[in-house]
Amino acid sequence: MKKHNFNAGPSILPREVIEDTAKAILDFNGSGLSLMEISHRAKDFQPVVDEAVALFKELLNIPEGYSVLFLGGGASLEFCMVPFNFLEKKAAYLNTGVWAKKAMKEAKAFGEVVEVASSAESTYTYIPKDYTVPADADYFHITTNNTIYGTELKEDLDVNVPMIADMSSDIFSRPIDVSKYICIYGGAQKNLAPSGVTFVIVKNDALGKVSRYIPTMLNYQTHIDSGSMFNTPPVVPIYAALQTLRWIKAQGGVKEMERRATEKADMLYAEIDRNKMFVGTAAQEDRSRMNICFVMAPEYKELEADFMKFATERGMVGIKGHRSVGGFRASCYNAMPKESVQALIDCMQEFEKLH
Ligand SMILES: *Cc1c(COP(=O)(O)O)cnc(C)c1O
Repeated sequence: MKKHNFNAGPSILPREVIEDTAKAILDFNGSGLSLMEISHRAKDFQPVVDEAVALFKELLNIPEGYSVLFLGGGASLEFCMVPFNFLEKKAAYLNTGVWAKKAMKEAKAFGEVVEVASSAESTYTYIPKDYTVPADADYFHITTNNTIYGTELKEDLDVNVPMIADMSSDIFSRPIDVSKYICIYGGAQKNLAPSGVTFVIVKNDALGKVSRYIPTMLNYQTHIDSGSMFNTPPVVPIYAALQTLRWIKAQGGVKEMERRATEKADMLYAEIDRNKMFVGTAAQEDRSRMNICFVMAPEYKELEADFMKFATERGMVGIKGHRSVGGFRASCYNAMPKESVQALIDCMQEFEKLH
């Protein structure tokens, strides 16, 4: 049976990316060696990193003066690297979920942290809008897509201080105005590559402004100076990331990814809104295109396990909501075909007919 992969992360990747990576694992560039057996300093691997960096810059239209890094440690290590490198006195954070909160917790070890707004009181079902960012903050940190709750900032904000964003789960799903940010980071395992690599886009001249000592490995400058090769980078995930970047370009770039994401999300939300058995959990205007969260309508609450079983038998994978919120979550990342979203919709409609 065909599987429809709605996993939240690690998650679906384009089939070609998996096949090309599998080939390179068996034989890298006709070298007779596996991608897993070569030195990251091999002359054949440097072009992989160079092309990945170049495609990041091209696809996201990154202005001059920024570096693109491929590191280890996941988005979770960035929660600490960000304040280490950028927080001198005060930083502002928007609390839109567990990931935002974790980022904020790390920052508190480095200086004053202002939580400008929070939607914790409503289990993060919306993104706060009325707040002021202190003008003297070193940066304003946001999480553009809240993977667990299915809310998303679909446009770049206008604020009076430089922004830093965790874009783990919506990178490459829309064009972004990188010039508004001094740092954008994320774990690759949602929309880009298998787990193991973290991408960081950093504005070069925003660095070097904090007075503390920064441990070598946690200093962005180290990785800029060594082109992400200070130590052994995650070679296989970087190779896979390159294949995804090529795929995005071949499909028409981030504008096309956005068009598809909007189309898929509109289809699924329309069904959630139409079907009497389900309700969406995120505020209408903040609905994520990447993670679509819904629950059973109150009068059908006891059928949750039944629907899960029904959908699983029809090939749906990974639609269980995050353990902290329950219900269902259909993650529709870039690689998710429209046909899989339609298959889920068909499931919801068939289930409704039975009840
Ligand atoms: C998954 C996720 C993280 C955690 O990423 P790791 O790479 O596992 O540390 C952080 N932020 C967001 C928005 C996520 O979706």
